[in-house]
Amino acid sequence: MTIAQIQDEIRALKKERDICVLAHVYQAREIIEVADFTGDSYAVSVSAQKTANSRVVMCGVRFMAETVKLLSPEKTVYLANQEAGCPMADQLNAARLKAAAEKYPGHAVVCYMNTTAEIKAMSEVCVTSSSAVKIIRAMEEHDILFVPDCNLGAYIAKQIPEKTIRLINGGCPIHAAVGAGDVAAARRAHPGALLLVHPECVPDVVTAADYVGSSSGIYDYAVKSDSREFLIGTETSIAEHLQYACPDKRFYYLDKKMMCHNMKATTLMDLYHCCAGDGGEEITMPPELIASAGKCIDRMIELGG
Ligand code: SF4
Repeated sequence: MTIAQIQDEIRALKKERDICVLAHVYQAREIIEVADFTGDSYAVSVSAQKTANSRVVMCGVRFMAETVKLLSPEKTVYLANQEAGCPMADQLNAARLKAAAEKYPGHAVVCYMNTTAEIKAMSEVCVTSSSAVKIIRAMEEHDILFVPDCNLGAYIAKQIPEKTIRLINGGCPIHAAVGAGDVAAARRAHPGALLLVHPECVPDVVTAADYVGSSSGIYDYAVKSDSREFLIGTETSIAEHLQYACPDKRFYYLDKKMMCHNMKATTLMDLYHCCAGDGGEEITMPPELIASAGKCIDRMIELGG
């Protein structure tokens, strides 16, 4: 079968089996083309919550499918490829967070969206990369323990000097793999290009950037910008999607190391099998975990709007 034929089969299965397909922005083009919603993990979870579909298939990584389930516990939620995990989310388990919280007593735990449901259940509030500064500023608490990404945490702390923000070692190995030397090499290769980076990058890279924002922020900035050339400092798929959206502009990877193999694990055929009912993994969680992890997302909505 061709890609187009498989996509038609998936569209038919979605109707037949009452399925909403979500695709994170780091997914492959052929998956995004058949998705009902594309965006960052929180945005697509909210979109799925508003649909009438009884089934939801997440094309992304495990914590994203868990977030869909937390927001829509009454729906049957699947992760299209059960092997797709997030190394950053997997770095932090309950024992490690408990030890960090004991080291910093009296600190409010703020977790990044890229965490397991278990960690969300132990946190006061959850944040995304685009809402973190607004939410932490709005919190009454002065002393914050931010987990698990120390690079994003350092970026947030710099913008909220009036609060004490403690960090632990952790972060995205894809974004953290790029350093100042890679920036210098990319600038030499493309001297006219603007550098747009994600705050999961190390501080040296963030400081050197012309724009810092979430993957959706980078995408929107590049689309609207009058500049013609861009170095994209986030997962490589964003540069690829931008090239389709703006064929008259040029997009370069900040470094080809920025490819997330977990995000690329899901194939169109995985999605096809999951929609057909013979693939993927149904995400289930005890009701008490859904209730306690859901609370930190509710607090995020309350503080961030
Ligand atoms: S890009 Fe980083 S944060 Fe995103 S899924 Fe891959 S490892 Fe996790």
